[in-house]
Amino acid sequence: MLINSDSFFICPTAILTVLTTIEDMRRYTADKKRQGHTVGLVPTMGYLHEGHASLIRLARDHADSVVTSVFVNPTQFAPNEDFSRYPRDLERDLVLAREAGADVVFAPTVAEMYPDGFATSVQVQSISLPFEGISRPTHFEGVATVVTKFFNIVGSDIAVFGRKDYQQCVVVRQFVRDLNIPVKIVIAPTVREVDGLAMSSRNIYLSPEARKSATILYRALQETRQCIESGETHRATLERVLAATINREPQAQIDYAAAADADTLAQPDNFAPGQQIVLLLAVRFGSTRLIDNTVVAVPPEVQ
Ligand code: AMP
Repeated sequence: MLINSDSFFICPTAILTVLTTIEDMRRYTADKKRQGHTVGLVPTMGYLHEGHASLIRLARDHADSVVTSVFVNPTQFAPNEDFSRYPRDLERDLVLAREAGADVVFAPTVAEMYPDGFATSVQVQSISLPFEGISRPTHFEGVATVVTKFFNIVGSDIAVFGRKDYQQCVVVRQFVRDLNIPVKIVIAPTVREVDGLAMSSRNIYLSPEARKSATILYRALQETRQCIESGETHRATLERVLAATINREPQAQIDYAAAADADTLAQPDNFAPGQQIVLLLAVRFGSTRLIDNTVVAVPPEVQ
C-alpha cells in the first residue's frame, strides 16, 4: 500500500485518487464534467464497512465516477459525544473504497473544511426536531452544514445515503429541496450482520456481551413489523411492543423507540390503511448508542 505526496494511492488492481484540498476536489469534478462524465458522491465518516461499500457500489450504478468523502465532522458531535475516540483508519478505508469501486477518496482536514472565521450553518426546522433532534440537539445542524459543503465542493450529480440513518435521509432530502441544490439523492438499504445487527462503525465499541444483546434491536423491529402486518395500527401499542421487546435485554437502555409516518415523521394516534410507517430506535448498550429502523406498510383496508 502506498500513499505518495501526489495524492495517488496505488493498489494492485487499480488507481484510487486521494484528494485532501477543496481546490483539487473541484478540479477533479470539473475535468470529469468536461469529459461528459457524471459524478456520484458517498459522504462518510470513514472506518468503512460493508454498509459503506454497498453505497459506493450503488453510486457506481448511477454515475460514471464515484467520490467517497472520509471526514469525521466535528460539528455534528456534541462536546460530550465520541468525536475524539470515533474510530479512524484511512489506509484501510482506501482499500475498501477502491475495492467497492470508488475512483476518489476526498479526505480533507478539519482546518480545510472549517478555516478560521467559519460562521455559517444550515438549520432544518421541523423534521430535525424529534427523535435524534431531542437526544442530539445540534447534530443535524452539523450534518446539514457539512453535507451542503460537500455538495458545493464536489458538485456531484447524485449522492448516496444509507437508510440506516433514516432521519438523516429525511433531513438531507428536505434541505436539498429547500435550497435548490442540484443533486439527486439516492437512498440505499441497510446492510446487516448475519444476526441482524445493522453494520455501524460504532459496533466495535460493543463489549462481547453487549454485541450479543444488541441483536435485540433487529428482533424488536421484526416483531413490531409483524404486529403492523397483522393489522395493529394504534401507535402507542406499536411503541409498547417495540419497547417491551428491547427491554427483554437488561443491558439495553432505550433512548427512543417510536413509530412515525415514513415521509413526514408525524406521529398520529392511529395509522391509516396503506400508510408507510417507520419504526425508529435509538438504544444504548453501555456507553455505545446504536440506531436502527425499518419501514412497514399498513395493510390496505379489506373491502
Ligand atoms: P457514517 O460513516 O456512519 O456517517 O455513514 C456514512 C453513510 O453510510 C451514511 O449515509 C450512512 O447511512 C451509511 N451507512 C452506515 N451504515 C450503514 C449500513 N449498515 N447499511 C447501509 N448504509 C449505511
